[in-house]
Amino acid sequence: MVKKTDIQLFDEEKGVRHDGRRPEDMRPVRMEVGVLDNAQGSALVEFGKTRILAAVYGPREILPKHMTLPGRAILRIRYHMAPFSTTERKNPAPSRREIELSKVIREALEASVFTRLYPRTTIDVFIEVLQADGGTRTAGITAASLALADAGIPMRDLIAGVAVGKVGGRIVVDVDEVEDSMGEADMPVAMMPGLGKIVLLQLNGSLSRDEFKQAMSMAIDAINKIYEMQKSVLKEKFTAYSEAGKNKQQQHS
Ligand code: ADP
Repeated sequence: MVKKTDIQLFDEEKGVRHDGRRPEDMRPVRMEVGVLDNAQGSALVEFGKTRILAAVYGPREILPKHMTLPGRAILRIRYHMAPFSTTERKNPAPSRREIELSKVIREALEASVFTRLYPRTTIDVFIEVLQADGGTRTAGITAASLALADAGIPMRDLIAGVAVGKVGGRIVVDVDEVEDSMGEADMPVAMMPGLGKIVLLQLNGSLSRDEFKQAMSMAIDAINKIYEMQKSVLKEKFTAYSEAGKNKQQQHS
């Protein structure tokens, strides 16, 4: 077994990272919507080995009732890592990290959802990390936003996210777990790309002003690519729906 300490984070000669990616390369990204029959909206998102399932229920009645807000819907987010998602079994009870991430993700998603359209209701979003290999909060937001769109919840824009970082002295895109744990800095970013608005920005470690600028610009490039994938996967599903609807109508006429 390769020990983490044996891993060379950046190969200067070849200009590649420990897994062969160039600094600006994301891992293979895969997305699918409508993967669950029993949720109003759902999405599966993969960034390499990081695999996240998001499910949306609502707008629906709030229980307990005292959480109701007269002027708008509330968003309830549960970010959770499955016990089998990490190399060592994770305790299924919500950890401090998961509670904090649920809050950070809620604040990001609240920027996009038109909550005032659904007073006195809740929109519940479950983000289940099936497999964790770095960047789960940004992949989680990307999946949650797709699931909200799949549920038909009106939004200002989709949200897409990626974690950039500094690894072996280089600024790199889509940090995996090895790079996250051994690198110098990790910076998750999420945006409403169509509106050019940042909804999540965190930094673990430190970056100089120039490194920060480079990291942001690389994050924005990657986020724009993720955004295009999100739009195309949604278009594909809803085009298939409308085609099926048309065929049905023709059969009946
Ligand atoms: P993010 O997943 O958004 O990058 P962190 O930086 O906190 O969030 O975590 C980085 C990575 O560390 C995770 O993606 C996961 O692979 C790993 N990790 C986090 N928490 C645990 C845990 N409790 N047990 C094992 N691995 C974990």
